[in-house]
Amino acid sequence: MQSTRKLRPAPFDPLYDPMTARAIGPGSDYAPTYWIGTAGPAPEDDGPVTRDMDVDVAVIGSGYTGLSTAIHLAKDHGIKATVLEANGVAYGCSTRNGGQAQVSAGRLKRSQWIERWGLDVARGMHGEMVEAFDLFRGLLRDHDIRCEPQDGGHYYIAHKASVLPALESEARLLRDSFGYDARMLSRDELFRTAVRDHEAQGAMWEADGVSIHAAKLAFGYLRVARDLGATVHPDSPVQGWELINGVHHLRTPGGTVRARRVAVATAAYATRGLHGRLRDRLMPIMSNSIVTRVLTPSELDAVGIRTMAPLTDTRTLRHYYRLLPDNRLQIGSRAAITGRDAANPAHLNGLREGMARKFPALRGIELDYSWWGWVDVSHDMMPRITGLPDTPGLFYALGYGGNGVMYSAMAGRRLAQLVAGKPVPDLPIFNTELPHEGWRTPFRRLGQWGLYHLYHYRDERK
Ligand SMILES: Cc1cc2nc3c(=O)[nH]c(=O)nc-3n(C[C@H](O)[C@H](O)[C@H](O)COP(=O)(O)OP(=O)(O)OC[C@H]3O[C@@H](n4cnc5c(N)ncnc54)[C@H](O)[C@@H]3O)c2cc1C
Repeated sequence: MQSTRKLRPAPFDPLYDPMTARAIGPGSDYAPTYWIGTAGPAPEDDGPVTRDMDVDVAVIGSGYTGLSTAIHLAKDHGIKATVLEANGVAYGCSTRNGGQAQVSAGRLKRSQWIERWGLDVARGMHGEMVEAFDLFRGLLRDHDIRCEPQDGGHYYIAHKASVLPALESEARLLRDSFGYDARMLSRDELFRTAVRDHEAQGAMWEADGVSIHAAKLAFGYLRVARDLGATVHPDSPVQGWELINGVHHLRTPGGTVRARRVAVATAAYATRGLHGRLRDRLMPIMSNSIVTRVLTPSELDAVGIRTMAPLTDTRTLRHYYRLLPDNRLQIGSRAAITGRDAANPAHLNGLREGMARKFPALRGIELDYSWWGWVDVSHDMMPRITGLPDTPGLFYALGYGGNGVMYSAMAGRRLAQLVAGKPVPDLPIFNTELPHEGWRTPFRRLGQWGLYHLYHYRDERK
């Protein structure tokens, strides 16, 4: 069935806020992103749920994680999942991100993994990330997912000189303790070979980093999942959830879906009411993103980008940026704290200013696209792919913290293993639950406001 998006246009709900909203969807249109604007026609889906159904496995959320779960349930375990999505397929961050596939998940560096878990576990985690990158590349290759992959490694750019020693030590650690190809570039080398970012004082280059077209990746996963027998229902938000005699009853506007096993893949987009056991396990953090008009040859020369690979800077409130294949520049960073404040021009101006500090030639340039999205940050900065011991048949993959483009492919494979009752590696992201934050919503946001000020002060002091 052709996607319902074109048939039932509804206004994009720009101020949606998962911390306060009672409901998500149905019928919200996609965010006005470069990705949606250039992805081509929406792919086919299975239309909204229109009747009560008994299914084997239900997946809630149709971003990269939900779709990869459906793909691996079918491919590896012979299970044809039913995917329920609140709005259009991949309505959430899978059509809003920066398209940077990096060899990580969560927000911690390798040195922080070692501090937290010791070297052996950190090595196990590193192995998981490397295997995940192989799986990600393999999915694109084997299923002919045309998402414009630009391979060139990842440049982690020192935005001030005082961060260079820590960056050098991280590169050494990657090489010596993990056997991973990472090296430092001087400012001159970076300018000559990669980008003339005026703030840059040098950079760490990591061998794995691929830029992709975010929506083409999501729609590619959608095609593969359906080809393998999964059904994907847009405009079918789960609005009520009861466990009756070991069967999960998921109420959607068109009918109740009854499933013995449920995989939750809703990232930051679920409301707090989705399931009591998952409430407040994540901190939704807003990130905004802009795309310039096509750069002229002289602007391109001034910006000096000679790579389409992913670039990020070393700020805690980091910028992520890249040259797009059609010679526009994309850049993103932190945004508002609440959904209500999302459209405040101060946030757009802040991001424009961040771009101009890096690339003075682009100060005041016209923008063709501007949007924002919610990132699922967990309270200990690492994701979890696990189950709830006291709730049979309920599993989740959540909390990648703005680093899920690549790893969500593997998270889906691991989630599928859990759903199918198969073992997963003995690592902390699989054998512990997402930690719970006890604070009430207004205090969490007050804390976030305070932290933003502290991070900004630390990021900008010399
Ligand atoms: C602005 C921005 C920039 C980012 N940049 C990068 C980047 O460059 N690199 C990187 O690695 N990561 C990045 N990320 C993070 C990355 O996009 C995510 O980690 C990844 O897309 C997660 O995919 P997902 O499938 O888990 O979640 P999502 O794509 O958010 O999918 C969750 C889905 O669940 C649906 N849903 C929610 N509630 C319900 C319900 N009750 N019933 C049914 N469906 C429901 C939502 O509508 C949504 O479509 C960025 C995120 C944002 C917001």
